[in-house]
Amino acid sequence: YAKSKQGRAIQVFNSALLNAFKEDAQIERDLVAAIKGRQFELYYQPLKDLKKQAYIGAEALIRWHHPKKGVLYPGAFIDIAEQSGLINDIGSWVLEAACKQLNLWQRHQIDISMHVNVSARQFFSGSLFEQVWELVTRYRLKPHSLILEITETELMEDIRSATNLCNELADLGVGLAIDDFGTGYSSMRYLKQFPISKLKIDRSFISDLTVSHESREIVSAIIAMASALNISLTAEGVETKEQELFLAQHFCHQAQGFLYSPALRVSEFSDFLTNKAAIH
Ligand code: C2E
Ligand code: MG
Ligand code: MG
Ligand code: MG
Repeated sequence: YAKSKQGRAIQVFNSALLNAFKEDAQIERDLVAAIKGRQFELYYQPLKDLKKQAYIGAEALIRWHHPKKGVLYPGAFIDIAEQSGLINDIGSWVLEAACKQLNLWQRHQIDISMHVNVSARQFFSGSLFEQVWELVTRYRLKPHSLILEITETELMEDIRSATNLCNELADLGVGLAIDDFGTGYSSMRYLKQFPISKLKIDRSFISDLTVSHESREIVSAIIAMASALNISLTAEGVETKEQELFLAQHFCHQAQGFLYSPALRVSEFSDFLTNKAAIH
């Protein structure tokens, strides 16, 4: 009896696994069509400077208009794109679209920085610097207004290549931000070794700021460290006024989160900026 029960459990497990596998394979096929068919769109989430009380940046976040499934968030496809290598094509499209948009904003005297997420595979592709250089040149971007975001774990995958690339980007003037700071499996050695311009505190430390003594101490320590190292700092996932107040009182530079706005389509983003500017 025990044996047959176990056998059944394995069967159930296998069919669940098989379904997940089939689903991933389908997404991968759909992604190929999505790249060709331009089914992606960048949404922009505002970043607020807590001292200036003004919006000074945007993070580009990819959305996929899937022909059957509707709007898909990156959680549904970025890992699959990464594993299959399709991320290189998607990432190139993202970079180009973000730079094109930044150029438009700059031409309209909208002075905000553009944050673009890059994945490990894209970061270490060997062509990222050339691509960034070409875009900055072609779109006549102020290099400091472009900031690439990568997680600490991904950055540390290949320390030698990372060292070269980080230095090249820094020489060009393009910023490098550590995304989801505090959640990776890495030492903080890279803060010594690489020219990092910004840390983004992961939202898991922000969400329980008002109830967790530990999170408060960790966030205070990160703020003190970033300030001592002269690294800019953004708190991710700010959802309440209390969280903002804590961050402002501890002199955290910037905040991003649903308290201000989710990621918006480009036209909504412009309206958002206009409305906020009118209030101040
Ligand atoms: P991320 O870079 O850490 O981006 C922040 C994520 O948190 C976004 O999710 C954003 O919508 C969400 N978020 C922002 N404020 C709040 C808040 O107050 N509360 C909560 N609960 N969530 C908030 P999204 O857009 O689903 O993106 C998820 C992740 O996908 C991103 O995390 C990033 O790692 C990745 N991603 C997004 N766009 C791209 C892209 O173009 N290329 C690559 N390689 N990865 C991307
Ligand atoms: Mg990010
Ligand atoms: Mg991330
Ligand atoms: Mg993040």
